[in-house]
Amino acid sequence: MVSRSVLGVRWHKVAFLVVSALLVVAVAGIAAGQAPPAGPPPNLPVGGPPAAPQGALPSGTSAGFYVSPLWLVFLMVATALWLYLTSWVSDDAKGNGMEYLKYTSFMLGAGSLGLLLALLVHAALVFLMLVLFSGTFSLYIVQRNKVVPDMVKFLGVHHRKQLIAKIPVLNKVAALRSKGKGARPALDLANEAGTSLSDLLKEDPSLSDGAVILSDLVLRAGSTKTRKVRLHPAGDQYVAQYVLDGVLYSVESFDAEAGRQALACASQLAGLSKGGRMRGGSGQISTEVPGLGQVKIQAEVIAAEGKPALALSFPDWTRDLYRSGLAGLGMHDTMIKRVRTALDQKRGALLVCSPAGSGRTTTLYAVAAMVDVFTTDLAVIEERAEHELEHVRHWTFGEDKPFTDIYGDVIREGPHVILLAEMQSSEQAEKTLEFAAGEGMLLTTLKAPDAPEALVQLVKLTGADDLVGRAVTCVVSQRLVRKVCPNCREQVEPAAELLKKLNIDPAKPGVWYKPVGCDACLNSGYQGRTGIFGMLILTEPVKKVLQGAGATAQAVRQAAGPAAFRTMYQDGVSKVVAGITTLDEVRRVLKGQ
Ligand SMILES: [Zn+2]
Repeated sequence: MVSRSVLGVRWHKVAFLVVSALLVVAVAGIAAGQAPPAGPPPNLPVGGPPAAPQGALPSGTSAGFYVSPLWLVFLMVATALWLYLTSWVSDDAKGNGMEYLKYTSFMLGAGSLGLLLALLVHAALVFLMLVLFSGTFSLYIVQRNKVVPDMVKFLGVHHRKQLIAKIPVLNKVAALRSKGKGARPALDLANEAGTSLSDLLKEDPSLSDGAVILSDLVLRAGSTKTRKVRLHPAGDQYVAQYVLDGVLYSVESFDAEAGRQALACASQLAGLSKGGRMRGGSGQISTEVPGLGQVKIQAEVIAAEGKPALALSFPDWTRDLYRSGLAGLGMHDTMIKRVRTALDQKRGALLVCSPAGSGRTTTLYAVAAMVDVFTTDLAVIEERAEHELEHVRHWTFGEDKPFTDIYGDVIREGPHVILLAEMQSSEQAEKTLEFAAGEGMLLTTLKAPDAPEALVQLVKLTGADDLVGRAVTCVVSQRLVRKVCPNCREQVEPAAELLKKLNIDPAKPGVWYKPVGCDACLNSGYQGRTGIFGMLILTEPVKKVLQGAGATAQAVRQAAGPAAFRTMYQDGVSKVVAGITTLDEVRRVLKGQ
């Protein structure tokens, strides 16, 4: 891929070009029959006039042919810079779809002219060379900024920010300012008894560093929508680890004393400390996070490597996500239309499948939210309360009330649609699928890697030859992919071979990004998640395969063909092209598929 970062330095390339520059200048010097003389320069005539008068440069510069070592080094540096910029312009113009041959030739021409003049007339003309190629380069940049998006404009707002962020001294100063001694915690955490962090600090001001760390951990968890944060001993330090979108990141480290103080603050607030001694267990802390309201945090003190460690659990920030509907979850319009069609039939079973923690329940409830509950009687059967659906009766089964009893009650009420949060047993499969094959509709989920596997699993669960084929109309499969962070992402140009492999029209490659990493995304380059969805429609050939004894997922896949089966990978690629996620991320979540 051709990088479209603004003057991103690739060191192996720099090294190559410096060596080239040395060679160019050395060869040119030899070709001109000259090498810097070690001793006093011989007085050779140049052209007509004998011995030119001594110029400002003392050694070896009596004539234009002589190059002092100082000038030579200067010329080499200028040549390396010129070659580097030329090569960058060539790559960059190609990546931006500009006439790269034209710009590369201009750069080569301007630099060569300057180099020739410097070598043949006088080394001081290296300044003219610098002016020539940097002028040409500036002209290129002006043209470039007219065609590229704002994100990658040379010295545009974004580029300036990037440059400033790259100056280490500035970053260190910023870090010191935020962590300076005597800083106040930004959040005032409190426990159920009403004791707050500021109360603790009044009692023991020496805990101030720990209080700041604890408050920062909570603030950052809220801004990045992290579910779990751990403060973990590692050697003689403490490391703050964040579980973000299902991936663990080590973000910051603190010295042992600061870490111990943060633990002391948390354990005292959570009621896990008496007389200065910490004990294992968990307790609750709450605080007002700006923009997110009152947040309840579960604080747990555990022992790790012989030292205490802290785990903070935050509420499910995305709990109400199903309310944003299937489009909000990332489902494509055409697939939502298919779901709508399936719902309109008011019979048959619609199945959502995924491995654990991949959002299938959220999707199921978003589907259920599309049912018009004023004209359709929807009954929800759950093992534990999942999400609230208004104007709908929820039935909960468990040890004291087995599924069979509940289901009898539900059926007596004569619902049009049954939502079973998760299909888990043969009994549940047989009963609810019979309902869907007859007069009603079933919405349910199954823990399975993809749609063909889910169907095969369901056949095994029912043990009946044709029930699955008669009942199921549509299977949705899904995964969650991380979205590339909009704050720091960098646009890249996909390679032609890759586009070909992915069956993408090279004339319309879309917008591709690569993850970079910034404060807002804990340097992961990703922020938030979205679904990638697959869908399998039960056509006649698929139903036929399911009836045969020992139907396999592969046979189901073949019978469906591309018309009735859209894979999660296809949907994932469409989200890469749309600039939402990256191909690496799609491949990561679909590993083993
Ligand atoms: Zn970022």
